[in-house]
Amino acid sequence: MTGSYDSGLVVLSLLMAALASYAALDLAGRVAESHGRAAAWWLAGGSIAMGVGIWSMHFIGMLAFRLPIAMSYDPAITLMSLVIAIVSSLFALWIVCQNQLSWPQLAAGALVFGAGVCSMHYTGMAAMQMKPEIHYNPFLFACSALIAVVASGAALWMAFRLRRRFRGVRRLRAAAAVVMGVAIAGMHYTGMAAARFAPNSRCTVADSGVSSHWLALFITVSAGAVLSIALIISVLDMRLEERTAMLAAGLADAKQELKFLALHDSLTKLPNRTLLADRLEQEIQNAQREQTRFTVLSMDVDGFRQINDAYGMAVGDKLLVQIADRLRNSLRARDTLARLGGDEFVVLADTQQPGDAVQLAEKLLDAVRQPVMIDAHELRVSMSIGIAIYDGHEPLPTDVLRHADAAMNHAMALGHNCYVFFESSMSDDAQNQLQMVQELRRAEERQELVLHYQPMYSTEDGQMIGAEALLRWRHPLRGLVPPGDFIPLAEKTGIIFQIGAWVLDEACRQMREWQDAGHWAWTISVNLSALQFNHPDLIDLVRTSLERYRLEPHNLTLEITESTAMHDVNTSLAILQQLDQMGVRISIDDFGTGYSSLLYLKRLPASELKIDRGFVRDLMHDTEDAAIISAIVAIGRALNVRIVAEGVETLEQQQFLKELGCSGLQGFLLGRPMPADEFEKAVTWREAGDRAMKLLA
Ligand code: C2E
Ligand code: MG
Ligand code: MG
Repeated sequence: MTGSYDSGLVVLSLLMAALASYAALDLAGRVAESHGRAAAWWLAGGSIAMGVGIWSMHFIGMLAFRLPIAMSYDPAITLMSLVIAIVSSLFALWIVCQNQLSWPQLAAGALVFGAGVCSMHYTGMAAMQMKPEIHYNPFLFACSALIAVVASGAALWMAFRLRRRFRGVRRLRAAAAVVMGVAIAGMHYTGMAAARFAPNSRCTVADSGVSSHWLALFITVSAGAVLSIALIISVLDMRLEERTAMLAAGLADAKQELKFLALHDSLTKLPNRTLLADRLEQEIQNAQREQTRFTVLSMDVDGFRQINDAYGMAVGDKLLVQIADRLRNSLRARDTLARLGGDEFVVLADTQQPGDAVQLAEKLLDAVRQPVMIDAHELRVSMSIGIAIYDGHEPLPTDVLRHADAAMNHAMALGHNCYVFFESSMSDDAQNQLQMVQELRRAEERQELVLHYQPMYSTEDGQMIGAEALLRWRHPLRGLVPPGDFIPLAEKTGIIFQIGAWVLDEACRQMREWQDAGHWAWTISVNLSALQFNHPDLIDLVRTSLERYRLEPHNLTLEITESTAMHDVNTSLAILQQLDQMGVRISIDDFGTGYSSLLYLKRLPASELKIDRGFVRDLMHDTEDAAIISAIVAIGRALNVRIVAEGVETLEQQQFLKELGCSGLQGFLLGRPMPADEFEKAVTWREAGDRAMKLLA
C-alpha cells in the first residue's frame, strides 16, 4: 500500500519546522543571556516551546501523508512522542548554553539530540498502531537517523554560535532557522520514505483514536500559539533587557561624570584639592617605598584680584583658564597640576634635585609672564612660587604642602614674580599666622576687641576737641595686641570689613554716651583701612551707625591715610564727596609720609590734616622737620583745614607745635589711648585741674 502527500500540509510542516528552529535559536539566546532563576524559567519554557514546535512539524508532516484507509492516532503514544520532543529540546538548549562547546561535546550532543528526534518520529509513527506492523527499509531508516544526528549537530553548533547578541544576529538566526527547518523536515520525510505499509494494512485505532482533521487543526493552532507567544515574550524581554542595559550605561556615565566633578575644578577642569590630596598621598607612599623625593610647587597669580576688580569676574575666569593651559603645557604628563580655588595652583613633580626644581619654576614663571589677550585686553601677570622638596624628613608627610605654601607667602612678600625655596624658619611663621587668622575671625564674637580712646586738644584754648578711637585686641594668651600686629592680617584675609564695621559702631555708641553726659562739642575719630574705604557699603554703614545712635554727622571724623586718599584720586574723590555731603568730617592721617599732589589736595573735601608723628619725634633736633611742619601748617591755612599734630610727648614739642601754628595736638603727653572708663576719669580730672588753675590765676 502506498501513500500520497497533501502538498499544502507539507509546506505547512516545513514552515513549522523553520518557525520551531527560529524559536529554538532565539530561546537559546535568552537562556544564555539570563542568570539564576530567570535562566531556569527560560530553559523550561524554551524547551516546551521548542519541543512542541518540533513535534508539531513532525505531526503535520504525518498528517500530510495519506493512506487509502481510515487513519487515527493513539493518544497515549502521541503524547509520549511529544514528551520525547520536549525532553530532547531541554537537553539541546541546556547544551548550547554551556560556556564552552568542544567537538566531542558537540558530537555527543548531536548523537543524543538526534536520537531524541528519531525516537520522537518513530514513536509518533507507532501511534498509528498499524496491523501488520510498519516495515522500515533499513537503508532509508539509517539515512533518516544519520540526517537526524547531522541536523542536530548543525543545529546545536549554530545555536551555540548565535546565542549571543551581536549586530545582524537576527538575520543569521533566520537563515540558520531555514537550514535547520529543511534538515529536520528532510529527516522526517526520509523516515516516512523508509516506511513500508503492507497492502492489507489497517489502523487499529481508527475508531478510538484522535481524528486526523481535528488533530491537524489543534496542532497547528496550539503549536503556532506556543511558538508565537514564546517569540513575543522573548522579543519583549530582550527589549526590556536592552532598555535596562541602556539605563545602566546612562547611570554609569552619570556616575563617572559626578566622580569627575567631585574631583576636578569646574572652571579649569584641573584636579581639585581632594584629588590633589589623594595624589600627594600616592607620591608620598611611592617616595617612601623607592627612597626617592618629589617636589611640590605652590603658586599664586600676582595681581589677580586687581584684574578681577578692574575687568570683572568673566575676564578673571578666562585668564585663569589660560594660565591653567599654559601651566599644563609646561609640565610633563606624569606631573600633577591642581587648582585649589581662586588663583592658587599646585604642582606635584617627581623632580629630585633643587636644580631641576629651579628649572621647572623658571619655566612656569616664563609661561605665565607672556602677555594674554582676553576680550581685547592685553593682560600681563606673574606668579609667586613656593618650592618644597619632600625628602621624608617632614614631621608629617603632608607637611610638604604647607611648606610650599609658606615659601609661596615669602615669595609674595618679596615682591612677586619669583620663586622661593622652603626653609624651616618659614614654617613657624605660617603656622602662627594661620592660627592668628582663625582666632581673629572669632575675636569679635568672643568680645575680645576693645577700643581705646586718645584725647585731642585745641592749642587755642586747651579744651578737648575730641578723641581718636584706637583698636586693641584683648587676646587671652598674647595680652593686649596693638593694631599694627593684626590689622595687616585682617586686611589680607578680608576680616577687616567685619572688624571695621564693629569699630565704627562701637565708637558711635561711645560717642552717644559722652553726648548724653554733656560733651556736645566733641568729635570721635575713627580710622578706616584702605579696603574699607573702597568698599561700596561704606556710605550705608556710616549712615546706619549715625542713625542708630542719633549722632550728628559732624560729630564723626573718618581718618584715612594720605596714601589711601591719593592711591586712586578720582575714586577717592567720589567717595569723599559723598561723605562730605552727608556732613561727616574727613581727616587725612599720617600726612607728610605720602606723595600728595597739592592740586588734588585742594580738591579733596578734607577738614583736617594729621601730621605724622615721625615729623614730631625729631622736631627739636631736625630743622628740616620743623620746616616741613610749618609748610603743612601753611597749606592747611590756605585750604582752611585744621592741622593736628600727633605723637606729642614733651612739653617742648607741645610749645613748638603751638608756635608753628598747629590747631590741634594729640600725644602721650596729653593723654595715652585709654579704655572708655579711664578716659572719662582722666578728662574729668584734667577739667577739674584746669578749673582750679583758672581760680588760682
Ligand atoms: P594712627 O591712626 O596714626 O594712630 C596713632 C598711633 O600713634 C596710635 O598707635 C597711638 O597709640 C600712637 N600714639 C599716640 N600718641 C603717641 C605718642 O605720643 N608717642 C608715640 N610713640 N605714639 C603715639 P596705635 O594705637 O598702635 O595705632 C597704630 C595704627 O593702627 C593707627 O595709626 C591706625 O593707622 C591703625 N589703627 C588703629 N585702630 C584702627 C582701627 O580701628 N581701624 C583701622 N583700620 N586702623 C586702626
Ligand atoms: Mg589715626
Ligand atoms: Mg597717624
